[in-house]
This record gives sequence, structure tokens and C-alpha cells, in this order.
Amino acid sequence: MTMSRTLFEKIASREIPATILYEDEMVLGIRDINPQAPTHLLIFPKKVIPRIAEAGPDDAKVLAHLLIKAAEVAEKAGLTKDGYRLVINNGPNGGETVPHLHVHVLGGRRLQWPPG
Ligand code: AMP
Repeated sequence: MTMSRTLFEKIASREIPATILYEDEMVLGIRDINPQAPTHLLIFPKKVIPRIAEAGPDDAKVLAHLLIKAAEVAEKAGLTKDGYRLVINNGPNGGETVPHLHVHVLGGRRLQWPPG
């Protein structure tokens, strides 16, 4: 069976270029190519979990790591003092376009609430 690989797998393997800001054995942090705020970063697990709705108990460690590292890349990007938002889009109504779980880190301006 041939499995098509996700965009973020191809970024992790350097087949598709991206600005990589953080990498360890479990996650990768990159700059979003189409920023929705002055700072817009993405952090995703190397393990392909298509979306948060499909995460299971075995993913607890990677999910915890993902959030901890999201806060760390936000800190490194200078967002901690003024604040930032972490977003996970799930499915069509959530606005998901890449079926490989990722956390958006958005900052550098005051974000609206409720979101659009
Ligand atoms: P989502 O809509 O939540 O699935 O988020 C996917 C995100 O990936 C969007 O914010 C896109 O701008 C971003 N994106 C798509 N292609 C690339 C790429 N080649 N490098 C970096 N970010 C990308």
C-alpha cells in the first residue's frame, strides 16, 4: 500500500523548504508561509496524527510535549510578555487544511475574540 505523505512530513524531511525554528526528536517548529499575524508559527509532531479528534491515549506524551514546546517557541519569538494565542483547527468547520496535527502560535497584535 502506498501512503501519501503529508506536507509537514515533507518539511520535516527537508523535501519542502521551510523556516525551521525548532526541532527535536518529537516535534518541529516552523514559520507559517501565509501569516495571519505579525508572528505566526506552527508546531507539529513528527508522528502523523491527522487531527486532534484522532489522538488517543498513546499520544499523551507527544501532545504534552507539543504544548510545552509551543510555549517555548512563543517565548523565543518574544511573544510571552504581550501574549499570544495557540490554535488547533479540526475538520472543515475548524478551518483545517493540512491533515497533520499542528498548533498555530499567533502573536504580535491584539487578536479578536470570538474568532471569525
Ligand atoms: P490549518 O489550516 O490549520 O490546517 O493550517 C495549515 C497551515 O499551514 C496554514 O496556516 C498554512 O498557511 C500553512 N502552510 C501551508 N503550506 C505551508 C508551507 N509550505 N510552509 C509553511 N506553512 C505552510
